[in-house]
Amino acid sequence: MNAPSNSAIADRLRIVLVGTQHPGNIGSAARAMKTMGLSKLVLVAPEKAPDRDTHAMAAGADDLVEAAPVFASLADAVADCQWVLGATARSRRIQLEPLHPRDAASRAVVAAAGGPVALVFGRERTGLDNEELQLCHAAVHIPSDPAFSSLNLAAAVQVLSYELRCALLGDAEGAVERVRTPPPGEGAASHAELEGFFGQLAETLEQIDFHKGRAPESAMRKLRRLYLRANLDGAEIRLLRGVLADAQRMARLAGQASDREKIG
Ligand code: SAH
Repeated sequence: MNAPSNSAIADRLRIVLVGTQHPGNIGSAARAMKTMGLSKLVLVAPEKAPDRDTHAMAAGADDLVEAAPVFASLADAVADCQWVLGATARSRRIQLEPLHPRDAASRAVVAAAGGPVALVFGRERTGLDNEELQLCHAAVHIPSDPAFSSLNLAAAVQVLSYELRCALLGDAEGAVERVRTPPPGEGAASHAELEGFFGQLAETLEQIDFHKGRAPESAMRKLRRLYLRANLDGAEIRLLRGVLADAQRMARLAGQASDREKIG
């Protein structure tokens, strides 16, 4: 096993805690991560800042908490990520491809060879909201008892960090090789590039009156799933945005022509 290169991959695996309500859980999550060789903890709008409870529960993993950047929104926290995985306690609410922790972990390690990867955890009471789940490329569900499916936040971080470690140790050679030799071309698009594309797509669908009075959410959800499955790279995003820009131009011209007709 090649420890330094292995840890280079671990450094690209980011654990993101969204809207954490109990500061103690931030400490427990940091400890869970550190035992599994992970160090990149990121906080999104925690309800309370890390405090004494955090440090008591961190029990020696305080360095992760101290180094943790705090973002105002999940979109900001994952803007540079290539792959974003949302951990969810309830499988029925998921509109994304739900993965088993083991598969999710190996895919995360493979994706981390190309750039940063985020594993996102929700609030203790309510989990991740729909808007936050929309920002995720896939969901992971720990197959708990459906009658009592919700793990404590830090316990969920522990289980998934363990799976990431197993994936890393099991595939150390392969993953290390992939990091040394990045895939040809420019690699997968970043989260921000994808969101820019989805924004323009939503705008275009409005302009060409695609929805015809139907709620736009359902079509956008399906289109997001389709494009996320395609694993687009930066050049492909630019190509698609070029197509949309032309469609938008045509829609504007058609609009102007029909205005002239009304006036005339
Ligand atoms: N009542 C909330 C549970 C939140 S538990 C709900 O039903 O959504 C806090 C977080 O821990 C969740 O948002 C999720 O990220 C993680 N978590 C808890 N149980 C999980 C499970 N079985 N699988 C995956 N993640 C889980």
